[in-house]
Amino acid sequence: MGSQEVSTVDWQGKHVTVAGLGVSGIPAARALHERGAIVTVVNDSDDERARAQAAELEALGITVRLGDGATLPPSTELVVTAPGWQPDKPLFLAAAEAGVDIWGDVELAWRLRGTNGREAAPWLAVTGTNGKTTTVRMLASILEAAGLRTAAVGNIGVSLLDAVLGEQEYDVLAVELSSYQLHWAPSLRAHSAAVLNLAPDHLDWHGSMEAYAADKGRVYEGNTVACVYNAADPATEELVREADVEEGCRAIGFTLGTPGPSQLGVVDGILVDRAFVANRQKQAQELAEVSDVNPPAPHNIANALAAAALARAFGVEPAAVRDGLRAFRPDAHRIEHVADIGEVAYVDDSKATNTHATEASLAAYDSIVWIAGGLAKGATFDELVTGAAKRLRGVVLMGADRALIREALTRHAPEVPVVDLDRTDTGAMSEAVEHAARLARPGDTVLLAPACASMDMFTNYNKRGEAFADAVRAHAEKSA
Ligand code: ADP
Repeated sequence: MGSQEVSTVDWQGKHVTVAGLGVSGIPAARALHERGAIVTVVNDSDDERARAQAAELEALGITVRLGDGATLPPSTELVVTAPGWQPDKPLFLAAAEAGVDIWGDVELAWRLRGTNGREAAPWLAVTGTNGKTTTVRMLASILEAAGLRTAAVGNIGVSLLDAVLGEQEYDVLAVELSSYQLHWAPSLRAHSAAVLNLAPDHLDWHGSMEAYAADKGRVYEGNTVACVYNAADPATEELVREADVEEGCRAIGFTLGTPGPSQLGVVDGILVDRAFVANRQKQAQELAEVSDVNPPAPHNIANALAAAALARAFGVEPAAVRDGLRAFRPDAHRIEHVADIGEVAYVDDSKATNTHATEASLAAYDSIVWIAGGLAKGATFDELVTGAAKRLRGVVLMGADRALIREALTRHAPEVPVVDLDRTDTGAMSEAVEHAARLARPGDTVLLAPACASMDMFTNYNKRGEAFADAVRAHAEKSA
């Protein structure tokens, strides 16, 4: 089913520079070394952790250069980079100058799949600004319900390289891809792919919205069966039109409304398929009920439809779509209900790290005390605040870029009370929850949906969400 040709690179004696020790760099260096490549790893930092990792690789005969990730070793024939490295780094400019290819971890996994004596499983790929992890997990759950051997891999904590070179055999992989990964994956050809939505994010890395969209659009290149787009987001459909796909590959839309031909959508609370049916002019296939989607918030139903479209493109039966959606459990810190205290709900959406995600979670509640702030990553907040103003009972702000949100609130929602904590330390979260609790009235939702990255105050969004949940529990004890 659409598993494309496996490319054969002769690695013997090839000089490969791996940029970045870390979750993708270390397995990449090992895999290339095992195949006979002469590997040099370069890394910016030279701390204790890097030295320990370097020692392990050096013991295998791999060269590691710590404290200088900028200079390209002279004999380099290929650079394999960690996906997050900024594309304008001197190392990459030097490689481009020398005509040396640059591959990311995804490109490497794509090229090495099928080289360990196992059948190369086709990839069903998911990208988009928001909803990737949720959709990929829903997809894996559906594929499992269909009895297929599969895993949710990629930008989700499970390395693609491990998945394609590990012991386990797969029939199909559900692959989450970030825009960074796609940027460095020129020859990736998925069986089918979905772009869930496109909103400004990571623009500091990509340089412009056009460059960001172009990188996301790469996911459609060479698709063989279906390019799945969001009918409510014309930018995603535009990317399908621009993609160079295999003959016979179809554009499949998903919509929260009634689906047209070649779309999946919703009719009277039922998820229906008008794309993968014998007669799409006249026929619609029932897949599942809206209540089978967990949680049934509008953006999450869109995620379920995208997952269903990819599964159907792979030939999965309707009953497995329903069973897979029913079995799916959302990950932590994604609209996670933490507690009800005095008729006020406390919800952790720490994973809402940009305005687009926050817009979706603010849209899911009627009356909200909103906790926000952190690192804005170049975003503006006017649209977000304008859209949510009527539903805001109050706002509590913290973190490095909180002034940007405060200013947007002053402009577009001057009547909404705002508490500016003027803090960027980890401990600020308990104060934030206390203030939010004071602002809230019975029936309200206190929603942590920061619209910002967390690294100014926390190690990551998980820690931020945990701090929120701890603070809520402490508040519950006090109020008991
Ligand atoms: P990603 O892997 O793309 O970051 P997640 O599934 O982890 O996506 O969800 C990230 C955040 O985006 C969550 O806060 C969630 O509320 C929000 N979200 C999920 N799906 C969507 C969607 N389809 N549109 C907008 N926001 C979404």
